[in-house]
Amino acid sequence: MTDPNLLMIPGPIGLTPQVLAALGTPQRGHLDPVFMKAFGSALKRLRAVFSAPAAQPFVVAGSGTLAMELAVANLVQPGDRALVVNSGYFSDRVGRMLALHGADVTHVRAEPGDLASLEDVERALKGGGFKVMTITHVDTSTAVLAPVQALAVLGRANGALVVVDGVCSVGGEALDMEGWGVDVAFTASQKALGAPPGLGVLLASPRAMETFRARTHPVAAMYLDFAEWLPIMQAYEAGAPSYFATPAVNLVLALDVSLGQLLDETMPVRTARHVALARAARAAWAALGLAPVPRREALLANTLSALRYPAGVDAALVKHVAAQGVNIAGGLHPALKTTSFRVGHMGSIDAVALLGTIAAVERGLRASGYGFDVGAGVVAAQRALG
Ligand SMILES: *Cc1c(COP(=O)(O)O)cnc(C)c1O
Repeated sequence: MTDPNLLMIPGPIGLTPQVLAALGTPQRGHLDPVFMKAFGSALKRLRAVFSAPAAQPFVVAGSGTLAMELAVANLVQPGDRALVVNSGYFSDRVGRMLALHGADVTHVRAEPGDLASLEDVERALKGGGFKVMTITHVDTSTAVLAPVQALAVLGRANGALVVVDGVCSVGGEALDMEGWGVDVAFTASQKALGAPPGLGVLLASPRAMETFRARTHPVAAMYLDFAEWLPIMQAYEAGAPSYFATPAVNLVLALDVSLGQLLDETMPVRTARHVALARAARAAWAALGLAPVPRREALLANTLSALRYPAGVDAALVKHVAAQGVNIAGGLHPALKTTSFRVGHMGSIDAVALLGTIAAVERGLRASGYGFDVGAGVVAAQRALG
């Protein structure tokens, strides 16, 4: 493998040579015409990637957590009620953030690896008066995939703005932001969008922007305030110079190239590729006796796998796999930290990268003293790939 490490963690992910080349171009100023054009192009491309032609995109230097805080700070005012459909670590994070920004927060929780039923969520929504409902599309700590479309219908029917944490999904899982009635969806550059870490990305529906404009309290953080960023995003799309805070120039160049590659593949083909690779990965894990953290088939994410260590195997597995040149991740959810590990399978990876990862996991399992039929995972994945 030419890459010294195959990066199969749930973000950051490996970069294509074209994205890497964009990152390494000579530094330009933030008002350079080439940069202004690329920024405008990235904003337009985001509407296509999110399937949200009428939405307002924001790209701000920071990580996914910044994008989450943009959503919270601009939509919530002190005393507003917020419902968190909680599927793990990142749902807990948005809950804490909502509370910090003054919201009255209710969680609909489930056991780790599970998700509340639609009936439970509906019952909670009817309890009343929620301004915002948050959904973690794929919770990266459990690899639980939430049924965003069905949940969004319930949220809207009960008068809540639907906010989707798509940090581990956008660019890998199917998302039809406008068709599904999602008001805000956000992600970060380094996950399934396939760019380096450093950019928070958020799209706001017209309804979300109206809610923002109807605020009676100012946003109490200048760097988070849509009012500061909106004219900047509009100017870059119009190709006009403007400045609020210096954009991460080369990251935006890299993001635009990456988004171009996503759209060249086309979103339906890209999400189908993620489904096919995830299916092959699952066949491999089952053949190796590795149980998924998600408790039901319908909850299995396509962008990563979270797996329980089999008897006799522990976190040393991650190191044994790294020794094969493949990076996977340990557990993240507090209840699963020492008992599970995670393998990312999102971005531009192909069947051979996945098969190499499975082979490395097999070698790591063997080094861990685990007894299994060597090669069974690779064979099962090969068969699933057809
Ligand atoms: C990674 C992740 C985040 C946080 O993103 P950072 O870039 O690490 O700040 C939030 N939500 C989900 C679902 C994630 O996977």
